[in-house]
Amino acid sequence: MMRIGLGRDLHKLAEGRRFLLAGVEIPFTKGEAGHSDGDVLAHAVIDAFLGAAALGDIGEFFPPDDPAWKDADSMELLRQSWEKVKAKGWRLVNLDCCIICEKPKLLPYREKIRASLAAALDTDIGAVFVKAKTGEGLGSIGEGNAVEAEAICLLDAQRMHPKQ
Ligand code: MG
Repeated sequence: MMRIGLGRDLHKLAEGRRFLLAGVEIPFTKGEAGHSDGDVLAHAVIDAFLGAAALGDIGEFFPPDDPAWKDADSMELLRQSWEKVKAKGWRLVNLDCCIICEKPKLLPYREKIRASLAAALDTDIGAVFVKAKTGEGLGSIGEGNAVEAEAICLLDAQRMHPKQ
């Protein structure tokens, strides 16, 4: 059986914060604000595979008002969440992502971001893709005040559990 999952996230961009996409630090004047490290792409990917497996969402697993997750490494949260999905018998078929931000240009970092996601998900880089778009100057993203990420994934059941 196959299942599809969708995740998305939006973070404000603020000075004095690191700009992280799937754990890859992008040199820029601003970075994602957030309770955790703010890694918008990691958060979207977590919600995509948790949703595909119908296990919950990132806010349930790692509540943003819980001090335990203050400045948390989102890629560590991703690895922990993925372990839960794998334990239910799911494997990743593929993951596709889109990052929307006005600046900086992300193409030079695309392969590093793909490799980081593939390593965390213990899969081949060929099963992971990442694209970048701008906000065309419109709205909070276009004005450079926010970054958004969307992720969609397909899971395949290696073994089925009763009632799943
Ligand atoms: Mg988030």
